[in-house]
Amino acid sequence: CRPFDARGFAALDKPFLEGVYADPYYRARREALTVVSLTCATGCETCFCHWVGGGPTSPVGSDVLITEIEGGYVLQAVTPRGEELLGATDLADGAEKFPLAEAARKAAWASLVPAPDLKDAAASLRAVFDDAAFWEAETARCLSCGACTYFCPTCYCFNITDEGEPESPCGGKRLRSWDNCMSSRYTREASGHNPRPHKFQRMRNRVSHKFWTYPENWGSFLCSGCGRCIANCPVCLDIRAIVLDAVAAARGRAGA
Ligand code: SF4
Ligand code: SF4
Repeated sequence: CRPFDARGFAALDKPFLEGVYADPYYRARREALTVVSLTCATGCETCFCHWVGGGPTSPVGSDVLITEIEGGYVLQAVTPRGEELLGATDLADGAEKFPLAEAARKAAWASLVPAPDLKDAAASLRAVFDDAAFWEAETARCLSCGACTYFCPTCYCFNITDEGEPESPCGGKRLRSWDNCMSSRYTREASGHNPRPHKFQRMRNRVSHKFWTYPENWGSFLCSGCGRCIANCPVCLDIRAIVLDAVAAARGRAGA
């Protein structure tokens, strides 16, 4: 994967492994996973990993980091699991190439446009939470298709359904499946009541979870800046613009 995907695993680990309700199913899959990341050679128009604490060469969440150099790739272990993986291969020792890999990683960082300061993001989103006009304007052209969540390496909303017939010889199953908080049905209750009937409320929830409430609980953004939600949105909604608009709106209020 890419470093922003690996950072996604690190973000999911917090609620699923470190929370009050550590999840044994997630743990089993996570412990069976070895993450090998290919660093990015340059930034791109939609990615913003360096805005949110990552970067094109971030090792967070990876067991092995691969860096492309002229004529090949350099593989470097990040964790004991990564060392074990590389130790089991018959790849040539590439230590003499490490300086070339380091130079390639520095060049990747040098290609980035400087990041804005998002330290006020959480407080700003809190400040504009009740501003329905702000959220309606930010969400107006959203189609509620959910692509932004399904492409996201840090989105983890899920649904639970009971399927099959428990009394039959085959038994029933309780299934957990990935779900999409941008869907109007996501929060609909059995009574028919929906606490987030409007799409602006769902967008507000998504952005606030990533840049306000998750950081409050876990100390980092629930966004690795991959930009896939931007690149794959059919109407070009940009989560970066929403967060920056919230910061500007909150500053405007504070100055008013
Ligand atoms: S991908 Fe774009 S249009 Fe689809 S739900 Fe997300 S923001 Fe809305
Ligand atoms: S940039 Fe979008 S898709 Fe990527 S982690 Fe952040 S919210 Fe998810």
